[in-house]
Amino acid sequence: MPKTTQPQAHTVTTLHSRCIEEGDCWIWQGACDGHGKPQVRHLGKVTYVSRLIRELTDGRRIPTGMVVACKCGTPLCVAPGHTVVTNHQGRADLAKARGAYQGVARQMKMANTKRAQSHISEQVVQAIRNACSSRVAAREFGVSVSHCKAIRRGTARVGTNVFAGLML
Ligand SMILES: [Zn+2]
Repeated sequence: MPKTTQPQAHTVTTLHSRCIEEGDCWIWQGACDGHGKPQVRHLGKVTYVSRLIRELTDGRRIPTGMVVACKCGTPLCVAPGHTVVTNHQGRADLAKARGAYQGVARQMKMANTKRAQSHISEQVVQAIRNACSSRVAAREFGVSVSHCKAIRRGTARVGTNVFAGLML
């Protein structure tokens, strides 16, 4: 006689009991897939925890083609308040926005260090940017042509214009 067992059905409570809370985050303590995404067996099928919690919380299935993205960026966080149902593009945008902000913080730090070492004032930097050519600016302000070119390209003194990239 084959043994029949009822497949385990999870609820938000049973899933939450497998997490530890860190701030508002629910940090999953159970199994993960090969990419470190929390997984659990639910009704005999292996499914993603953040997706399952979202469905249990919302009381409806997530439509095909939609994905659950994490807003807080904490690995292993499955808190329903930290996930959002979106499409692949939306998830990519979220990840990109997080990356961009981290990038800005890094750039600001570097720019501030460079600015402290620089002898050129902020007004001169603006004037060099507004000059009709690097050669003209170099002669007028007594800086090297290559440095003027770097400022005008934005590779030097990016701190003054660091948010421009985010406006795209
Ligand atoms: Zn979280």
